[in-house]
Amino acid sequence: MTLITRFAPSPTGNLHLGHAHAALYAWLRARAAGGVFLLRMEDIDSQRCRPAFAKAIIEDLRWLGLDWDGGVRVQSDHLSEYASVVTALASRGLVYRCFCSRADVARAGSAPHGPEGAIYPGTCRSISTQAGWVRAPHEPFAWRLNMQAALLEVPGAVDAACFGDVVIARRDSPGSYHLCSVHDDAVQSVTLVTRGEDLAAVRPLHALLQKLCGWPQPHYEHFALLTDTTGRRLSKRNESMSLRVMRAAGATSESVRLLAGFPPRPVARAASRLYDQVSP
Ligand code: GLU
Repeated sequence: MTLITRFAPSPTGNLHLGHAHAALYAWLRARAAGGVFLLRMEDIDSQRCRPAFAKAIIEDLRWLGLDWDGGVRVQSDHLSEYASVVTALASRGLVYRCFCSRADVARAGSAPHGPEGAIYPGTCRSISTQAGWVRAPHEPFAWRLNMQAALLEVPGAVDAACFGDVVIARRDSPGSYHLCSVHDDAVQSVTLVTRGEDLAAVRPLHALLQKLCGWPQPHYEHFALLTDTTGRRLSKRNESMSLRVMRAAGATSESVRLLAGFPPRPVARAASRLYDQVSP
């Protein structure tokens, strides 16, 4: 079976050394096995994603020397596909409309916490199924998974229960990260998902969605995240670790590939010290 991996950045900022590590990891796994490496822009969050960042990501990856097979899949070009999945789940009674705002959910207060924060208390689960209950058509709503119904359909997926009724489609987008990510892995026939260890916790939820939708389950590998000198994972706040800044400071793509390579942690710490010194 051909190994198919992907790098799936969200274009909310410039790539930093941590992203380079993630991209290289997936690319090396594919290329070492004579497999396929795909690039996907996860840009469904129209508030935070910018086409300019997507363009910069592609430039940075090319500068790094990575190549990918086929075109770039851009999630915002496929919104109707996610909407159809949600419609199908709704027709099976597996998702329900939720009209609660973030503030409403926060006010519900002392709800137990799951891997993604407070578990939704289910306020809209019962009201939206009451016969004759109608909301004003203009009122925005999200779709939430009816976890209990989902677990009844997929016996043995009980480790996803701790997520509660997660958002499957947001008010402003026809798919959540979880839905779009597993949908695209299926559509793109991805056989190996490589991700940072920060995303290891979502695996049971993704497995549940895959089983509910009849999609295959890829293999998963999680790598340790690169950290800065204080031991915190790299993020946009580590501007000195952005590939653009490193490049402007004179780093070659070979040196960045090396820094973003293996073993990740000690190398990244050393790099972080180096670039903290050279950056303004
Ligand atoms: N788009 C996600 C991110 O940039 C990661 C995607 C994934 O591995 O599922 O964090």
